[in-house]
Amino acid sequence: MPRKGVDLHWHDAEISFLEGVMARGGREVAEAIEAAWRAGAVFDAWTEQFRLQRWLDAFEATGIDAMAIATRERETSEPLPWAHISAGVAPGYLVRERQRASAGETTPDCSFSGCTGCDVCDDLAVQIVLAGDSRG
Ligand code: SF4
Repeated sequence: MPRKGVDLHWHDAEISFLEGVMARGGREVAEAIEAAWRAGAVFDAWTEQFRLQRWLDAFEATGIDAMAIATRERETSEPLPWAHISAGVAPGYLVRERQRASAGETTPDCSFSGCTGCDVCDDLAVQIVLAGDSRG
């Protein structure tokens, strides 16, 4: 960046693509993950070790259309592959957040602006306490 005071950060597009496949793919992706691992994809979280071609070969060998998994439009009524794993966030909250994001609306940080209703605190029986917060 030619201008002082401007700090540019970005996420590698190839890694984002693979993350999209992992986040949106179901059990069918498991075979491809194993195939990539057997082909040497062991330390791919390290940028210098990441090789997209290893993953593309694994998807092709296992008949996985990774591009379709990562990019196809999904209805909000469609169950997500990992929906059986609860992280405490209410599914309806995620749908509302998606709608808000599409509308360009942001959701305030509940640590400072009050509860926005994700249900984590109730589901996991936690209470938000900020360091140094005498209210905790
Ligand atoms: S306060 Fe708890 S339940 Fe409310 S939005 Fe924050 S994390 Fe979710």
